[in-house]
Amino acid sequence: MKDYYFIQNEVKNMLTFDRFIHSLGVEKEAIKLGERYGVDINKCRIAAIVHDCQKDLSDEELIKKAMEYKIDVDKIQLKSPQLLHGPVGALYSKEKFEIEDEEIINAVYYHTTGRENMSLLEKIIYIADIIEENRKYFPQLESIRHEAYKDLDNALIMSADSTITYVIKRRCLIHPLTIEFRNSLLLGVK
Ligand code: FE
Ligand code: FE
Repeated sequence: MKDYYFIQNEVKNMLTFDRFIHSLGVEKEAIKLGERYGVDINKCRIAAIVHDCQKDLSDEELIKKAMEYKIDVDKIQLKSPQLLHGPVGALYSKEKFEIEDEEIINAVYYHTTGRENMSLLEKIIYIADIIEENRKYFPQLESIRHEAYKDLDNALIMSADSTITYVIKRRCLIHPLTIEFRNSLLLGVK
């Protein structure tokens, strides 16, 4: 794997200033969550800094790269190509930053949709993305932030609810992985 500072610098050059600041915020949050839940801090750090590395690509570029990486693009991703920045970012990171750790790759791959039975690292990246310090206010933000350090799964359910509600209000498509993600968390809750 390439050195952290090399990766950070590459990511900085690929992203708008605000998005780079967001990525640093996700990193800071992911490290705190990693300490709280006993997850390898280095994995948290790397996954967080690269998670949005392909987010500034256009819809056309994302579809093109997804094809190149042989990602099986579904009709929902075709209609909402921004969903592809997770999978494309994951495979890009594997190729360019030589990240071989499957857990890191999966955390990046699924950070937008979620999926069922996520690992702790995947959950941390998913939630850190939502609650990091630079996030613009939305109604549930403070309670999700608080819950993330108390009961991670419950914080994830709250986040999935708020994402799905937002998507429905805008009459956008919901990816099936997001539904599976939410259902698996609800089924796992005592
Ligand atoms: Fe993202
Ligand atoms: Fe993000």
